[in-house]
Amino acid sequence: MANKTARANLLSEPKGDFVIGEYPIPDPAPGAVLMKIELCGVCGTDVHTWHASQEDVGCEYPISLGHEISGTVAALGKGVTTDYIGQPLKVGDRIGVCPAIHCHKCYYCMIAKTPEKCTDWKTYGTWPRADQEPHFTGGYGDYLYIHDPNSVYLKTNTSAERTAFLEPMAVVVHSLLHAQIKPGDTVVVQGSGPIGLLTTACCKIAGASRLIATGRRNRKRLELAKEMGADLTICHADMSDPKDSKEFVFDNSLNLVGADVVINTVGTCEGFAECLGFVRNSGTIVEVGNFVDSGTFAFNPCRDLLEKGIKIIGSFDNEAEHFVRSLPLIADPRIHLEKLITHKVPLGDVQRSLDAIGKGEKLDGKEIVKIMMDPTSPEGN
Ligand SMILES: [Zn+2]
Ligand SMILES: [Zn+2]
Repeated sequence: MANKTARANLLSEPKGDFVIGEYPIPDPAPGAVLMKIELCGVCGTDVHTWHASQEDVGCEYPISLGHEISGTVAALGKGVTTDYIGQPLKVGDRIGVCPAIHCHKCYYCMIAKTPEKCTDWKTYGTWPRADQEPHFTGGYGDYLYIHDPNSVYLKTNTSAERTAFLEPMAVVVHSLLHAQIKPGDTVVVQGSGPIGLLTTACCKIAGASRLIATGRRNRKRLELAKEMGADLTICHADMSDPKDSKEFVFDNSLNLVGADVVINTVGTCEGFAECLGFVRNSGTIVEVGNFVDSGTFAFNPCRDLLEKGIKIIGSFDNEAEHFVRSLPLIADPRIHLEKLITHKVPLGDVQRSLDAIGKGEKLDGKEIVKIMMDPTSPEGN
């Protein structure tokens, strides 16, 4: 395999252009796995990295973005016989990969048991720089070379499409572990992007008795929220005054006291501030959406937190446990993952797709929910 080449679409610099290069396909070293990519979800987080709006994560450019990766085993390095949980692995098996790599040595990995805050955190999709070997270090390409010894990959036993949701599902599972939903609970899922829609589906499966999903203006997403299990929806285009949406939540909460649990998947201060109004006294807010800095807002520790006796929990990224717990969920026919895929685009359309997501525009005349990069799609159509 060493003398053959394949493509990777590399981001040259922050705010720069994506350029497809041809690079030699690596033979996996002992302990490594070469993955043939089938699909890679195009994610809003990549827009933030592209626009350099995240906290400096220390990327060395060029990088190969793309972290919602589904594919098959192309070649196994010496000594690799199973996945992370001991399922036997052979060439051709479909796998999903946890892009984040945690060190298993630092305080957060070993003592705090929150590896997602690892002090030596690295992630396929931004690491290592991709103009050097092994080049195939992210999801926007024909291959991913899984070479770090702490990498986590899992055989999925479901379709390529569903496997591409493993990473976002792990974000959702992490937030659900914090949310601790109980039977009879009224849950509000703030936001109906891909993470919000997956959250809605999982909250219902986790036992939410009434689920209220909110969205801004993309009505297709609110229709999907109902298909994913929402009992009621709030469209902020119809209900722009936070007083009205709060009243709606209270009137429709099963015990008329507000939501037991609110999960925010919207990356704005206004979205989070509204959650403070939705939650009942002694309820829980889980914050997922403000993954990048969206500013500050007025917060009254007495009125907003202590008097209400609420819990506010930040749920950052994900780690191996969340991927393992996501395996049955991506295979669960009650979660209509296929309906979320609105576009499949070729490798050369990654930049155009990220641009449309960043601007909140349609792509090819169609509202976006989830775009998948499919390396077998013909270019230039
Ligand atoms: Zn993502
Ligand atoms: Zn660590």
